[in-house]
Amino acid sequence: MCKTPPPKKFAKKARFVPPSNSELYVYFCNLHHVGMALWTLYTIVFGPRPYLLMTVGMYLYSDMYSALLHSVLDDKKALAIPGIAPVAKGFQEHHDFPQETTSGKGLLVLCSDTVRIQWVCAIFSLLIGRRDSTTFALVLLKLLCCAYGTQFGHYYAHNRHLCVGWLKPLSWLQDAHILLPPSHHWNHHKAPYSKNFGIVSGLSNFFLNPVLHPDNYQFYVILTLWTLFTMFDVAVIEQLVPQVAPATSSIFSAVANSTIYSAIEL
Ligand SMILES: [Zn+2]
Ligand SMILES: [Zn+2]
Repeated sequence: MCKTPPPKKFAKKARFVPPSNSELYVYFCNLHHVGMALWTLYTIVFGPRPYLLMTVGMYLYSDMYSALLHSVLDDKKALAIPGIAPVAKGFQEHHDFPQETTSGKGLLVLCSDTVRIQWVCAIFSLLIGRRDSTTFALVLLKLLCCAYGTQFGHYYAHNRHLCVGWLKPLSWLQDAHILLPPSHHWNHHKAPYSKNFGIVSGLSNFFLNPVLHPDNYQFYVILTLWTLFTMFDVAVIEQLVPQVAPATSSIFSAVANSTIYSAIEL
């Protein structure tokens, strides 16, 4: 008589608990987000307003920047670099816990995760750049597209089911590849996680996939590139693009003018 085999025991997958930030840091991040919203509003009303081509260009650039950053942070070697290791750990945990680390954290917390790099980018851009209308417009676009755009595109790629009602247009943008399409991003979530690193629109992946494949790059080369782009991109871009018209009523123009006047006085 044959015995019925005992039911198989499956190991329970450990539940992911996202690390929580201190109350003070949460308060600082919320203040930062309010400041960014006010800066954006102020720029729309008073200027200096980036022109359409600059806005589109920075949006496309942000997908490339996100691909570079993502490929660095997904690499195991990044786990050994002080300062970068905790962020890299977060990126690599996302492969094991895709939903827990996106919808489980919430969009606001995800945006708060970018506050530190926003300050790094802004400080370097303002130190190295010309600090004129074009610099302010580029810094604003970089923070909006590279930080908030990355989290927004990625969050809704994992939460397409939320794109209903008044958020329905987001699904149209995903279908048009203007926002990261879920099916496109899902190809990143297949081991060994070596393609589709761009997470704003995913458009740059079509030409960056062969370049950013771990078999084809040296980790320290892309780490250096990411560092250089973080520090110098705005300073380089502002030299190459037509200038943004200064708005006389803007406090940013006032800062830029005072910088010029002090330079003349010197
Ligand atoms: Zn990844
Ligand atoms: Zn993902």
